[in-house]
Amino acid sequence: MMHMSGTEHTGHCLCGAVRYRATAAPRWTSYCHCADCRRATGAPVTAYAGFARDAFRFEGLPPARFQSSPGVVRCFCSICGTPLTYEGERWPDEIHLLVGSADRPEDLAPQLHVYTRDGIPWLAIADNLPRYPGTFGEKDVS
Ligand SMILES: [Zn+2]
Ligand SMILES: [Zn+2]
Repeated sequence: MMHMSGTEHTGHCLCGAVRYRATAAPRWTSYCHCADCRRATGAPVTAYAGFARDAFRFEGLPPARFQSSPGVVRCFCSICGTPLTYEGERWPDEIHLLVGSADRPEDLAPQLHVYTRDGIPWLAIADNLPRYPGTFGEKDVS
């Protein structure tokens, strides 16, 4: 869909026990404004990069896994609690990385917004990126 420059992305949790490495460019990058991501991260908005599953691996301490809703698993560090990834049955061959833990998040700039209908009203967005009320590609009916 979208091509990003750079072929290796690394990062780690706050305490450094869990590390990861992606060996390909992400398929896409996006902000997510949904309430589940907001609660899982404690942040008003999250940013993701979607990597092919076979191009992404954890290193160091294996992360804890939490099924946050049917078909959805969120991984986080069991020591410091840093949220790291999202895996959904709807994207069986992808890992969605929370780019805030990346070593170079500046290389993973979001290219669109999803679930803006769930966004917090006081968060002002000043970019001109495409905005989707639900998931990517869903028509804006507002
Ligand atoms: Zn940690
Ligand atoms: Zn979300």
